[in-house]
Amino acid sequence: MTVPAPTVRHDQAAPGRAPRALPPRARGAVAVPPKIELHVHLEGAVRPAQLLELASRNGLRLPASSPGELAELYRFRDFEDFVRVWLMTTGAIRTEADFRQIVFSYAEEAASHGAVYVEAIVTPAERVAGGDCSWDEVFSGFCDGAAEATERLGVTVRLTVDVPRTANLAVAMTTAHFAVKYRPRGVVGLGLGGPEDGFPPEPFAPAFRLAREGGVGSVPHAGETAGPASVRGALESLGADRLRHGIRAVEDPGLVRELAARGVVCDVCPTSNLRTGAVTSLEEHPLARMLDAGVPCSISTDDPALFGTDLSTEHRLAATLGASAEGAYRAGVRGALCDEATRARLEQIGREFCWEAAGAAAE
Ligand SMILES: [Zn+2]
Repeated sequence: MTVPAPTVRHDQAAPGRAPRALPPRARGAVAVPPKIELHVHLEGAVRPAQLLELASRNGLRLPASSPGELAELYRFRDFEDFVRVWLMTTGAIRTEADFRQIVFSYAEEAASHGAVYVEAIVTPAERVAGGDCSWDEVFSGFCDGAAEATERLGVTVRLTVDVPRTANLAVAMTTAHFAVKYRPRGVVGLGLGGPEDGFPPEPFAPAFRLAREGGVGSVPHAGETAGPASVRGALESLGADRLRHGIRAVEDPGLVRELAARGVVCDVCPTSNLRTGAVTSLEEHPLARMLDAGVPCSISTDDPALFGTDLSTEHRLAATLGASAEGAYRAGVRGALCDEATRARLEQIGREFCWEAAGAAAE
């Protein structure tokens, strides 16, 4: 899927520095609406050309030698096939320099679509197991990239760390320990990712408790490829502050009412759900029913490179299901695991943006 270049303006770049994105309400052109992205895996956001470059730099051979061949490889049959390709390709991301680079590259891409705040996901256990780095090197590489992007690109980047559901509790506890250790450097959440069916959240409760006690939030995937029981488990056992996807909550009307009443934000990613087969068609996507029920839904890309999408495309698809740009932004502010000063700044950006003009121009 390709998207026309958005209208984002840049001021003069200082020598040797990347251009700083102006606030999206820049005058003189209809500005791109500001966006908050809360659900994007950095390892799945590396575009094919960059992934090939990283593999070559690390002396690895991917099962594809051109961006076109990689795109072929990305035609998943189902969720299991997606996980298989994810593990095969993301293994090319191995060094501290790689981690720094992929945070910065994606932040730059997201900013070009109007993002002002990105809460990006990384999976440190996989990077440690499949690479050449220690836990500290993995965390500090990603944190360095987030700090650099925040300073140079004008988009605030925070990190959340996923535990693979197939990992054991010891791995989860180690991930939680390092999340707390790196909280002062921008790690704000602990998550749970990977195959949901057959890997319930309950066994991971002690890791999420450790994170919570250290001031790190809970942002598990739930209700993507498993149903309401998985969502309830995430809420009750893991104390979820937010849900990644959460779409299958619609199978239980009482659960949807509870999400709405509690204001639990769901990070919805339409293309991802279609590509992994979690949803069979856009028309049947549960987002419209969630919004009708009053569940706050933010809009994200999940794994934009693997799914051939981007932040503007996801917002455009979500709009066809009733998600307004302003509503998605407000849900993003509500769900962000940021400090109060950052939240106040994001609220101000939302208040000052002329949503009506941007909406009219998009029609
Ligand atoms: Zn995800």
